[in-house]
Amino acid sequence: MYTGRFAPTPSGRLHLGSLLSAAGAYLRALSLGGTCLLRLEDLDRPRCRPEYAAGIRADLQALGFAFPEPVLVQSEDLEPYAQAVQKLLASGKAFVCACSRRQIRERPCPCRERHLSYKKGRAVRLDCSEAPRDFYDVRLGHIHLPLLPDSLILKRSDNIYSYNLACVIDDLRQGVTEVVRGSDLISSTPLQVYLYQLLGKQPPAFVHLPLITAKGGGKLSKQNHARPVLDELKPAEACLLALKLLGQDSSGLAGLKPGQIWPEAAKRFDLKAIPRTDIELADAS
Ligand code: GLU
Repeated sequence: MYTGRFAPTPSGRLHLGSLLSAAGAYLRALSLGGTCLLRLEDLDRPRCRPEYAAGIRADLQALGFAFPEPVLVQSEDLEPYAQAVQKLLASGKAFVCACSRRQIRERPCPCRERHLSYKKGRAVRLDCSEAPRDFYDVRLGHIHLPLLPDSLILKRSDNIYSYNLACVIDDLRQGVTEVVRGSDLISSTPLQVYLYQLLGKQPPAFVHLPLITAKGGGKLSKQNHARPVLDELKPAEACLLALKLLGQDSSGLAGLKPGQIWPEAAKRFDLKAIPRTDIELADAS
């Protein structure tokens, strides 16, 4: 059974880039007779606030997405991440790191050889020297990343579990068979595949979607003040725009309610019609 997911970080309201990821993941799942789950990746506090999570959920509902309940909220149960960190430490591939952020930027981390014991204020990192540099994207084909970091943070010194760790653990426990997400995460994918290998699990399939960029390049994101999509457009207009940007046939869908648009669009969903390059928005700012 196909299981996909949309996993926003609630650090602001839903912007057009996130809507594209939601639409891509949702349509792909519906078109294959599967399900698309929602997961709120809210571990990075205080960047993520409960009011943003509520805002994103309200936006998604207004946009006609119907995600099955219960929704996984990462901050509600940290135990699965703690267990995975223990397992990776026990395997010898993860290690305790006492470097400051500045030291990490300025020189290679020497902690792998130091065999430090874990205590508060220390981070846990994963040695990535043996991580794969290649993976297969269902839409883009073979992807090779020549440069990967030497190590990957699993748990930060401020006690926060990393995106990559939590993402893999949750995709596993939610039974996700295919991950559809933005191309900004392409560089994370081989590291996540490596985590699956170390945990003795099969990775899901991966599909990366084009990013929306502001005119002249540059990612459109919550950080560079992309506006909440529903501040700019009515929900049905936003759905039709997302379909258009994803290269999908939206003929005859104008006039439908958002909740009716997705099932209709899923019947004609064409993965190959999605642009292969990033989408430059003339009026983005
Ligand atoms: N939470 C991530 C974000 O909002 C997406 C994670 C993923 O889809 O793997 O950028």
